[in-house]
Amino acid sequence: MDRSAVEESVLAGLENELDWLGETYRQLHAHPELSFQEHATSEMVAEALGRFGFAVQHIGGTGVVGVLANGSGPVAMARADMDALPVTEATGLPYASQSDGVMHACGHDVHVTALLGAAKLMGQARSAWRGTFIALFQPAEEAGGGARAMVGDGLADKVPRPGVVLGQHVMPLPAGTLATAAGPVLSAADSIKVTVHGVGSHGSMPHMSVDPVVLAASIVLKLQTIVSRETKPGEFAVVTVGALNAGTKSNIIPDRATLLLNIRSYDDAVRRRVLAAIERIVRGECAAAGSPREPDFEYYDQFPLTSNYPGTTETVTQAFAAHFGPRSVQGAQRQTASEDFSAVPDAFGAPYTYWFLGGSDPAAYSAAVAAGTVDRDIPANHSPFFAPVPDPTLSVGVRALVVAALAFLDAG
Ligand code: ZN
Ligand code: ZN
Repeated sequence: MDRSAVEESVLAGLENELDWLGETYRQLHAHPELSFQEHATSEMVAEALGRFGFAVQHIGGTGVVGVLANGSGPVAMARADMDALPVTEATGLPYASQSDGVMHACGHDVHVTALLGAAKLMGQARSAWRGTFIALFQPAEEAGGGARAMVGDGLADKVPRPGVVLGQHVMPLPAGTLATAAGPVLSAADSIKVTVHGVGSHGSMPHMSVDPVVLAASIVLKLQTIVSRETKPGEFAVVTVGALNAGTKSNIIPDRATLLLNIRSYDDAVRRRVLAAIERIVRGECAAAGSPREPDFEYYDQFPLTSNYPGTTETVTQAFAAHFGPRSVQGAQRQTASEDFSAVPDAFGAPYTYWFLGGSDPAAYSAAVAAGTVDRDIPANHSPFFAPVPDPTLSVGVRALVVAALAFLDAG
């Protein structure tokens, strides 16, 4: 069989699954679960994968992996994240969240539904392909620790090493379209809690103190030079001081200040330089102020860079263009958002390709483009109004995963 005949025979079952896909999506959307609390979602996924003929393992708490070994041949893995956000839904949809203050506002319910759909079709059409298909459902993408929890729980020793790892994210692009690109598509993110130490005293006696408020203020200004003076023009970095806390009262000089920093980058070398510059500047300012103790750096909410491998991304892009038509596949713009997806392929040393799946109503999207109001009128991920249109987003999500996986597996 040639490639498109293999795709046809696996996707032949899709038409019969549209009702089930829609129902699965509405159920997930109505019952969102926060990071590391995806118990019902994880149960449902494990039960479904078992029914589809996958060998199921629970890895990393609520993480679930299904392995469908179907003869000798290549191994392809697809990943979906499962968690929701602490957002109060405002869509007014009939299947809106039934959990107060929790919403699938990032569309991870689309990812779970689409991967279950792909798993079901791959299981039904085993005679059409050969190799191993792995469906991985990870917890806690939003909190940043979900993929690492699975890796820490021995993921790489528990399932066969994939030759490629695939992932997708629903985005405010027209439903029916896909977008990807080789190289960085999502930024790396780091958060740092910096604590600097001073010597407290009465506000009327500054000479008795080492004032951490003045020290912290100086640090905030000096940090601005990392992007403006140390980063090469044209290279990308963001350094934001999101919080600065010190003191309780006007007439007390406190003995410490804390700063919460957020850093974004598209290049590991830039990232390492920026983090080193932050530590150097903070230590230098502390020394200049006569701080009595070394500052403390606590790194948290760290997301790795998502940088697509050129080889696998070329293969996926060609397979998409052949299946969906070249006009449905765009070059992805880099996003300053971040993901922990790449921790999964990195655990295996495997190449990966990650793409964006359009989820916005195409007519509303075109109207907003014409009016120049996309940013205002098309709700984006994490908005309480974020509402991907189920048709055709779900079926395109399923087809994209099947087409991409088959591009790396053997024909039956
Ligand atoms: Zn998100
Ligand atoms: Zn997300």
